[in-house]
Amino acid sequence: MSTSSKGEKDVNPLPSISVAKFGGTSVGTFAAMQQSAAVIMRHPETRFVVISACAGVTNHLIALAQGIKNDVLRQNTLDAIDAIHQQILAALPACHHTQEAVRTLHQQIISLSEQACEAPSEALTDALVACGELTSTHLFTRLLVHLGLPAARIDAREYLKTDSQFGHAIPDIALTQQQCQRLNAQLDNHILVTQGFIGADKEGRTTTLGRGGSDYSAALFAEALGATSLAIWTDVPGIYTTDPRLAAKARPIAEISFSEASEMATFGAKVLHPSTLLPAVRQHIPVFVGAACAPEKGGTWIREHAESSPLFRAIALRRNQTMVTLTSLTMFQAYGFLANVFAILARYQISVDLITTSEVSVSLTLDQTNTQGEVPRLPDAALEELSTLCHVDVCQHLAVVALIGNEMRHTPGAVTPVFNALDTATLRMICYGASNHNVCMVVDDDSATEVVQRLHTQLFE
Ligand code: ASP
Ligand code: MG
Repeated sequence: MSTSSKGEKDVNPLPSISVAKFGGTSVGTFAAMQQSAAVIMRHPETRFVVISACAGVTNHLIALAQGIKNDVLRQNTLDAIDAIHQQILAALPACHHTQEAVRTLHQQIISLSEQACEAPSEALTDALVACGELTSTHLFTRLLVHLGLPAARIDAREYLKTDSQFGHAIPDIALTQQQCQRLNAQLDNHILVTQGFIGADKEGRTTTLGRGGSDYSAALFAEALGATSLAIWTDVPGIYTTDPRLAAKARPIAEISFSEASEMATFGAKVLHPSTLLPAVRQHIPVFVGAACAPEKGGTWIREHAESSPLFRAIALRRNQTMVTLTSLTMFQAYGFLANVFAILARYQISVDLITTSEVSVSLTLDQTNTQGEVPRLPDAALEELSTLCHVDVCQHLAVVALIGNEMRHTPGAVTPVFNALDTATLRMICYGASNHNVCMVVDDDSATEVVQRLHTQLFE
């Protein structure tokens, strides 16, 4: 294998290819699919396309996976899924192969949803929700072919290999890369279309990467294929200084660094799945985020280094946070207490997000992004084990507000606006100093919107 000037391995000797991902709303109707297809045609470097399930389908499939015992309700959900797919199918020029494929997948959805009533499981959930992406890729590929593009659909499960943690599987990067080598020949003269969100474990069982995981899939494919850029086409024209639904004066950001964008994704900016940038960072792949329905509005480029690096770049908000406070007098001037706490959390695969400590207590917030998208909670068994060590207090209905920027821990007064924005809100936790790129605060969910608005007014308007 040759080595490039940057020193990393050349993954693939192909000429420059770009990977494009289209989210659920960008393939949710025939009209949306047409707009997405137009984007591909306008960007001929796009050789590999990753798409989500049609908007709404994954939610319905998850409901089915939980086992809807009431026959009428189950049928309604099945009908809702079928209606979304059939509308698109009806608008496409008739194609027996596509019709058959969609019909077969729908039969599979019916039979898996019946199994879910008997014995729901995480493995079954993944097999069932995968049908969303498996179907949408048939429809979209058919449209591209109809438009005269050399599109071919491939099954992501043959290439994107993961461990067996259903609902939040971890990709096996080396194996995925190895599998993707087989695509080189096809990429020469095809636009390959595949499913986001899904993969397969070593036994070939279907897995998923967690809600919103298609972005991550696209980045993993971009990495494995040695792509020169990754475009995430969604329903908003890029990354904003904050969610425009929270602050009407939110502004689009033309260019942002990997570090800033990672913080934003992690702290709740819904534009990107939090893991998306990891592969891009590893392989120095610039990422573009734009709206498939309005490409003329431009978007945001996420690069290793952005030209400007302002102290304050953006504000992100993440709701549904759970804070656990552990208090123990034996922690006072002792050692090993935190190690014990974290050993328990690790055993239950609980990922900790923010943390602050005092002499006799430690507060932490929990993170969770599995396919069910549940509010993070401490499993009862973990709570019981922790209670043998210390007093445990669990608090919900909290939100994390993250102020993202640059050189934050070296700039005098960087946190002043944070405190100013908190006039009427109660600050439950603040994390500052670990990252040069953020200050995070935990506040009651009720006051979070106002905190974001005040911060935005002060810093960006
Ligand atoms: N269809 C999946 C979801 O709705 C994955 C994705 O859209 O990224 O979460
Ligand atoms: Mg989506």
